[in-house]
Amino acid sequence: MMTSKGSNKSIASVVTGGAGFLGSHLCDRLLAEGQYVICIDNLITGETSNIAHLLGHEHFRFINHDITNYIFIDETVNNVLHFASPASPIDYLKLPIQTLKVGSLGTHKALGLAKAKGARFLLASTSEVYGDPQVHPQPESYWGNVNPIGYRGVYDEAKRFSEAMTMAYHRYHGVDTRIARIFNTYGPRMRINDGRAIPAFMSQALRGEDVTVFGDGSQTRSVCYVDDMIEGIYRLLMSDVVEPINIGNPDEIPIVQLAKEIIELTGSNSKIVFKELPEDDPKVRQPDISKARKLLMWAPKINRKEGLKRTLEYFRQKLLVPESVK
Ligand code: UDP
Repeated sequence: MMTSKGSNKSIASVVTGGAGFLGSHLCDRLLAEGQYVICIDNLITGETSNIAHLLGHEHFRFINHDITNYIFIDETVNNVLHFASPASPIDYLKLPIQTLKVGSLGTHKALGLAKAKGARFLLASTSEVYGDPQVHPQPESYWGNVNPIGYRGVYDEAKRFSEAMTMAYHRYHGVDTRIARIFNTYGPRMRINDGRAIPAFMSQALRGEDVTVFGDGSQTRSVCYVDDMIEGIYRLLMSDVVEPINIGNPDEIPIVQLAKEIIELTGSNSKIVFKELPEDDPKVRQPDISKARKLLMWAPKINRKEGLKRTLEYFRQKLLVPESVK
């Protein structure tokens, strides 16, 4: 399909969802490690602006493709990292079928590619596999509390299926697999309108609009800065750990407090308004990262204040310029 552009690449990685928030940061990291990167994305929630800086890079190739369909790659591939999926509640409410398809058919195709190439496979799984958890904090051994027919079920169940499929390919086909259970992550390249708490609060505060807290805001999340997350994922890829590993920052905070901190950081006059809590919104969430500490020797390093500052800088810039055209 493509010939080498004379690069001295030694390791080649395919990143599905490579134009998304996490996917594009992952492409950056793999390129920085000297790898050759093939980024696959159909741009339904990914954005070319996230990879625009990589398009001329001789070790980088972009393929506009929906990973739920068969893909042929006529090159050596050492790693397949499957990050394609709508990933915010608003996105998967809007795209329920696509979310189910990319988690099921897409994971099947990505695993098939890894098997055909003899490549290592890393699945971007999620804390949503724990649903609205009854065990707190959540260790990997917890099986979760998910409503299969609720609005969030399309994402949660697709990711649970992805994990099952990944383990089946590992056990039956001997594919070398990794499963990262990714907890809430934030940072530059999140979409302003993806509906998640941090971009929503930051853009509302920067525009001087009301900041919308759902429910009474007592529900908690534990937020991880993107650079820490990418380091954890890279370490997992390089490890020999097949079992699922939580990657996230245990720094837990009620959502209303997060909203207050963001308003204060922006220096905005915005007021908090309370809106209806979405269905099945988890009441608490905090990763138990003992395994990642022990097996990957990884722990997050960037504290919330610093992470929020860096992210705010990105949104300030972004709000001054029009959204990129896809
Ligand atoms: N949330 C909120 N206001 C918003 C967006 C989200 O209060 O404008 C809440 C949401 O109900 C949830 C938390 O913030 O309790 C985190 O939501 P997010 O969409 O960021 O991630 P997830 O629910 O998938 O963890």
